[in-house]
Amino acid sequence: MPLFVSNTLSGLKEEFVPLEPGRAGLYTCGPTVYNFIHIGNLRTFLWEDVLRRHLEFSGYAVTHVMNITDVDDKTIRDSAKEGISLRAFTERFTEYFFEDIRTLRVKPAHHYPRATDFIPQMVEIIRKLTERGFTYTSEDGSVYFRIAAFPGYGRLAKLDLEGIKPGARVATDEYEKEDVRDFALWKAEGDGPVAWDTPIGRGRPGWHIECSAMSSHYLGETFDLHTGAVDNIFPHHENEIAQSECASGKPFVKYWLHAEHLIVDGEKMAKSKGNFYTLRDLLEKGHAPLAIRYLLISVPYKKKLNFTFAGLEGAYQAVDRLSNFIARLNGLVESGADGGADILPQIKSFKEGFRAGLDNDLNTAEAIGALFSFIREVNPLLESNSLSALNAGLALQALREADAVLDLFPPAPKLQEEALPLIKEREVMRKAKRWAEADAIRTQLSEMGVILEDTAQGTRWRKKI
Ligand code: AMP
Ligand code: ZN
Repeated sequence: MPLFVSNTLSGLKEEFVPLEPGRAGLYTCGPTVYNFIHIGNLRTFLWEDVLRRHLEFSGYAVTHVMNITDVDDKTIRDSAKEGISLRAFTERFTEYFFEDIRTLRVKPAHHYPRATDFIPQMVEIIRKLTERGFTYTSEDGSVYFRIAAFPGYGRLAKLDLEGIKPGARVATDEYEKEDVRDFALWKAEGDGPVAWDTPIGRGRPGWHIECSAMSSHYLGETFDLHTGAVDNIFPHHENEIAQSECASGKPFVKYWLHAEHLIVDGEKMAKSKGNFYTLRDLLEKGHAPLAIRYLLISVPYKKKLNFTFAGLEGAYQAVDRLSNFIARLNGLVESGADGGADILPQIKSFKEGFRAGLDNDLNTAEAIGALFSFIREVNPLLESNSLSALNAGLALQALREADAVLDLFPPAPKLQEEALPLIKEREVMRKAKRWAEADAIRTQLSEMGVILEDTAQGTRWRKKI
């Protein structure tokens, strides 16, 4: 089955057909680096990770670009508050961002352009737009995009442009639909601290032009996929389309995909509302990165994700179950056991169900559902010792294939040096029926992150996730 995605531009679920066979260009709007990112941002970055991985899983050679917004109203405001240079300020939060996505196993993009490294490219687009009559300059030297000159304006966000006053302007980077007006491409900064001297005057870019410049630099004037969360549709992506298409005269993006928000108590999680958790907040409370990854990818991107600690606990249980299943299969492979049930039909239906879920507009709930049905079917065979090493190996292989998209396998089971003698000592105590000592060692190991399970074949250990 081919991949189908919800295209915001058409409002339809469409088959993904890339511009160039076998290749996919993907641009994802990155973080504005003025603070730690919150788990709402991470929901979007993780869904985009699933999209990119599923495209690769489906055989496409993906070029993934994610920008770093290191100049905008907010970064300038907060670096000034701290009294340090914009670069020093944004570099700090860029590093934290990279740490956070690494912790959650997000596959690195191929390019992470910083907006401040692309000023000449932005100026060039603005120059082209001016040449083609799409801009005007205000009294202070700022350059605005004239939305009345672009009949396609409003197609993405489905705007009703009746009654818009031509020439009315908005200077801020973010504004609401009610405020649809000509927007700033270039902001004249006079002798402000953050400004570049360029052929179109001294100033700095508006937020929207940044993504138009960085995306076309790496992916060309027309490319396959552009993503973000629903708050990006207007004005950011609407304005990107206007700038890019009017400058190049070509269609900008084929598929626009937007994730619904992560919400708390029915409201969007946002830095400006103060109702947010960062990844670090959750790690400090002792939550496992894999459980957080699971929680954030398990709800399909077209559905709102309601964040609760009960949900996070449920996610932990799910990943723990998977980790236990993998450990048991590994144990069986090592045992070399022969005979038993043939699970090829279960493996086949797991693989098909998993892929069908993802092909269906990246329905991760469906794909993960197929994974847990498989675990439910195979577990009784493990319990009753009726699975061969060969079948266990095949099951592991199928899980590993799916994990190229999910990336939820437990960390490599490397034991600390001091754990091994403790495991042996407990085995001795158990054989001698010295239960109290055996239990004490089990607790000690658990505190070191090693979980023991006594099975008919002997004691097995695995690392806590
Ligand atoms: P920002 O750093 O604000 O530019 O946001 C980075 C990305 O996170 C953008 O794609 C936003 O649309 C997305 N985002 C912001 N808040 C949320 C939320 N509560 N849930 C999901 N995505 C969000
Ligand atoms: Zn963007």
